Amino acid sequence: MKSPRAEDSGTGQASPPLRSPIRHAALKGAAWLAALVFVGLSGALGYLSFERRAVDNLQADVRHRLELFSSAVEGMIQRLEDVPATVQLSEEIQRLFHAPHRAAVRERADRYLQRLNAFMGGIAIYVLDERGAIVASSARTRMDTLPEEDFSFRPYFQEALSGRVGRHFAISLVGNRPAYFVSHPIRDGAKVVGVAVIMINLDPINQIWDMLGAPALLADTNGVVILSSDPAWTYTTLQEMPIERRVDLQLSRMYNRMPLQRFPLPVQLKVNPETLSIHGSLAQANRYFGFQEVAQIVSGRSINGMDWRVMLFTDVAGAREEAVLAGAVSATGAAFLILVVLFMAQRRRIHRHRRESERLLEQANLSLEHKVGQRTAALTLANAQLVKEVAERKQTEATLRATQGELVHAGKMAVLGRMAAGITHELTQPLGGVRTFAGNAMEFAKRQDLESVQQNLEIIARLTERMGTIIHPLRSFARRTEPSLSTIDVGQSIANALFLYQTQLAHLGVAVDNRTAGEHLPAWCDAHRLEQVLVNLVGNAIDAMADAPLRQLTLVAERAPSAHEATAADGRAYCLRLDVEDTGCGLPPDFASHLFEPFYTTKQKGLGLGLTISRDIVQDFGGALRAWNRDGPGACFSIYLPCAPQRGEPHDG
Ligand code: ADP
Repeated sequence: MKSPRAEDSGTGQASPPLRSPIRHAALKGAAWLAALVFVGLSGALGYLSFERRAVDNLQADVRHRLELFSSAVEGMIQRLEDVPATVQLSEEIQRLFHAPHRAAVRERADRYLQRLNAFMGGIAIYVLDERGAIVASSARTRMDTLPEEDFSFRPYFQEALSGRVGRHFAISLVGNRPAYFVSHPIRDGAKVVGVAVIMINLDPINQIWDMLGAPALLADTNGVVILSSDPAWTYTTLQEMPIERRVDLQLSRMYNRMPLQRFPLPVQLKVNPETLSIHGSLAQANRYFGFQEVAQIVSGRSINGMDWRVMLFTDVAGAREEAVLAGAVSATGAAFLILVVLFMAQRRRIHRHRRESERLLEQANLSLEHKVGQRTAALTLANAQLVKEVAERKQTEATLRATQGELVHAGKMAVLGRMAAGITHELTQPLGGVRTFAGNAMEFAKRQDLESVQQNLEIIARLTERMGTIIHPLRSFARRTEPSLSTIDVGQSIANALFLYQTQLAHLGVAVDNRTAGEHLPAWCDAHRLEQVLVNLVGNAIDAMADAPLRQLTLVAERAPSAHEATAADGRAYCLRLDVEDTGCGLPPDFASHLFEPFYTTKQKGLGLGLTISRDIVQDFGGALRAWNRDGPGACFSIYLPCAPQRGEPHDG
């Protein structure tokens, strides 16, 4: 026995292995999970890469702005920082150090400084002697006059006195204004005799914060915020400051005794020692999930030659929102990609199924064509056989008809044979009469009694005529005829049949009750053959009544009310029923199954063909022959005869 797999491989089409539903569901679930992971990863990657790019762009932009801002600040300071160097060159200042106590000389020095300050736009320019006291000043005559004070505690003074250029931020002692101090030594030969100082106004820097477009600050070399776009940040320290440094700053009054608080935001800073660029971040709790995340990035750089650092706080929320959008777009793109892949896969599957269906259809077609070919060949063979059989059957039918004709004729001959004795008896009497009257005529001729001769010859003529009337119906009955259907008078056929048995009926003393006499009974059949049927039936009735005490033969015809209303037992329509009833011995007990069989007979000299021939003849008419035992003694045979066919209706014969 072959396994289904072996059968599959036999056709050359290996069917795909059947997947269990659980495995199929698991694979499907895994595929969906992979798709979800892919979408999620795409979203995350999109988010991260865009965030990084956005932050990089932001930082590049910030760097650019910081550069611009630094340049602006450097420009502001550098424009003025060489002023103290030029002060010592002026004649007024030279004279001042040669005659410091002369009022006129001091006056001229002050005016020179005023002019210079007015021209340069600083807060003040002043000159200190080697002890740190002001000897000349641009502000001496103004409202914010500098007090006669000792400035030797200021780092810029100490630097310049040491022969170097001093520069640092400090809050001015008068007016409490943030300022940038630049000092330069004034020499007399190799000896430093004084210090020239310019106090540069830093207020203009507060005007250009907008240039940075975000919160920003400027911190000095001590890590103290000296200027800021947010006033709350000013004078706070970005890193923890050691106490001794705080004391130094107090002594130098750098911040004019301002309390230095810690910078309010938890900012983490990293300074690159090579580029001096600053990077930092400001962490904050996430708005939705609460975890700590970078909320602002801090970028900064040093301002050339000043040890100042400018720092900018850039909010990354906008970049992050854009990154979320980019992540969503990436995830959507990935989902779309998956959909496209699914769509393509589905299309391929449909295409494959269609190709498979087409292949199967083609196979089915081929197999159908093959089967049709086989069937056609079988049918052609069967047809040829049928044609042969039909031809054989026609031949057989023709032979049968010929045989039937022979049989019918033989039947007639048999009837005539049976009648021979009666006919002989019938003919004997007139024949004897002919002989007697012929002898008489010869005698009368000898006697020349011509009148008597004529009388005898007339009698002979009548007798021969009578013999002719006996012989004529027999000849007509015995004639071999071909069946031909037409509308005939059934009454005539009955009369002819009865005539043939006239002598026999009379001899046996059978009372004949022919109720059809004088009636016109048309029916569709052959007159000679119907006569033969009636002869058979009457003959059988006579035989059956041979020993019967009562001998009565009745012939009754009954017309159907309308052509197609009367039907025989087989359901066919008849227009005339003819009953032949006798009072004989009745039909044998087994008649129902054997009566019309050929060679069935209960008679010693019977042939058993009479009823078979009669039934066939009536069926050839399109009629039927039935038999049954009567309620009283005897049997009854009914002949059902059809009507003439309607015009155009096909009929046999
Ligand atoms: P046969 O007359 O040579 O016997 P039939 O075919 O004419 O052949 O009749 C067959 C048989 O049917 C008869 O032998 C007889 O037994 C029975 N039979 C026919 N007609 C009658 C009848 N009127 N009464 C009783 N029996 C009949």
